[in-house]
Amino acid sequence: RAASRRPLIAGNWKMNAGGQDACPLSAAVAKATRELTRAEVVVAPPFTAIAAVAHELAEAKSEVGIAAQNMSAEVSGAFTGEVSSGMLKDAGATWVILGHSERRQLFAETDESVARKVASAMAAELRPIVCVGETLEQREAGETLAVVERQVRAVLDELAKQPGFGVIAYEPVWAIGTGKVARAEDAQEVHAFIRGLLAKASEDLAGVTRILYGGSVKADNAEALLAQDDIDGALVGGASLDAAGFAKIVDAAH
Ligand code: PGA
Repeated sequence: RAASRRPLIAGNWKMNAGGQDACPLSAAVAKATRELTRAEVVVAPPFTAIAAVAHELAEAKSEVGIAAQNMSAEVSGAFTGEVSSGMLKDAGATWVILGHSERRQLFAETDESVARKVASAMAAELRPIVCVGETLEQREAGETLAVVERQVRAVLDELAKQPGFGVIAYEPVWAIGTGKVARAEDAQEVHAFIRGLLAKASEDLAGVTRILYGGSVKADNAEALLAQDDIDGALVGGASLDAAGFAKIVDAAH
């Protein structure tokens, strides 16, 4: 992997550990990953736990960063139930996961809404982790690269405004939460394709943008995935809820 891309391991807690569990989990992650400095580490708790986790990590003088799992594209106003980029930053987040497949599938997010959110996050200096990936149906129909291309193109201009600030996560939908991890070579092929798309905007963007793999990443499959040239880290769901197992994934990053 190019030295310009420090591996990034992000834990997506999803709708878990948002209450009393959040602080102990973040403290355990901070402790277990403290010496593992090859990779940058981020945790993404539910909205309600971001401020408490930020406080916990600051007390521990931890380098672990915080991501939100979604945000509004709007800055403020009459948008009941929404949370803005500014609110996330005030709470202590520096990252935000956008366009996760669960949001696209269950909450009707589209390439357009994801692109608006990416623009809004970047304007607020909140670093986006933009998720892309095909469903099983699309893979079986041979549409993987076309789907990924459409999803990446929707955010390309925004990401090109500040090369390296944003991150892409390739998460084949059929691999999320299923225990069916993509074969490392198959994932690498899509990652290389995504880097090629970034290169169409600029070589600089392609060189510095980290492309994470996500979908059933575990301690025992992380090494093979992270050894691929264009896999610059991982977005980890289920396995991020156990600090020791998550730390093993962080340790697998070279
Ligand atoms: P998983 O989730 O690791 O539980 O498959 C990954 C994700 O949805 O980001």
